[in-house]
Amino acid sequence: MKFALRDDDACYFTEPETLTRVYHDVWDRVPVCLATVPFAIGYERIGIPREHWTSGEAFPLERNRALVSALREWVPERRVSIALHGYTHQDFASGYEFQAAPDPERRVRDGVRYMRTLLAADISIFVPPHNALSKRGLAAVGAAGLNILGSFLSFRPSMRPWDAKTPANWWRVRRFRAATGRAKSDRFVYPYVLRYAGHAEFGCHSLVPGTTFDELVSGFEEARRAGGDFCLATHYWEVSDAMKDVMLRLFDHAAKYADVRFVPAEELFAA
Ligand SMILES: [Zn+2]
Repeated sequence: MKFALRDDDACYFTEPETLTRVYHDVWDRVPVCLATVPFAIGYERIGIPREHWTSGEAFPLERNRALVSALREWVPERRVSIALHGYTHQDFASGYEFQAAPDPERRVRDGVRYMRTLLAADISIFVPPHNALSKRGLAAVGAAGLNILGSFLSFRPSMRPWDAKTPANWWRVRRFRAATGRAKSDRFVYPYVLRYAGHAEFGCHSLVPGTTFDELVSGFEEARRAGGDFCLATHYWEVSDAMKDVMLRLFDHAAKYADVRFVPAEELFAA
């Protein structure tokens, strides 16, 4: 069983010390997939200065030299890997970036190229800002050949670009939902990779303020019983001591099973 860890929102506004504080005792055991924003535009959240919540100014990652040099050290050490987390992560009046931007195709293409060059990192995963993707946003990511690591992605064929694998995947998810006694409206994380024509998708379990150890263990155990894999997703900027404690206890729980392997998130998609 594979177990991976994803952390969202590394960007110009991130101090490398904050990542070190959260992950110094984690990343040699569980590599962290940092879903990183190449040209961050501020929005209202902890860790972004208030004057940038609505300034609309885009900050290229390279302007944070300390972060870039830290990432360039951590990637070859395999402590972190880099995923693309949108292009600016800005919120539009009509939706989140990959629902509402007029040019998602260009954003994916330029974002990947920029980060590959700047960080000398392989990028094969896309994490949608706010876990939100329109049909066109999803098509843009798929066309770039990036795999998607999300939380609560929609499987409904009407919400997705169509390809030859779509109906069979929809049936798989439906079968899993029925086998686990869930109603259509119940949220759940499907514990296997879904492979589409040009890309694959996998869902993560969120660790946010208020998430309990028991909730995560039950998600992990369900994935385990199903013979699936598991990915935990969090945000470094809101990891409190209590959340860190939940995280470490979950790793300890998973590590009790001899067949659990802590892997970089990219390996979730390996055949
Ligand atoms: Zn984000």
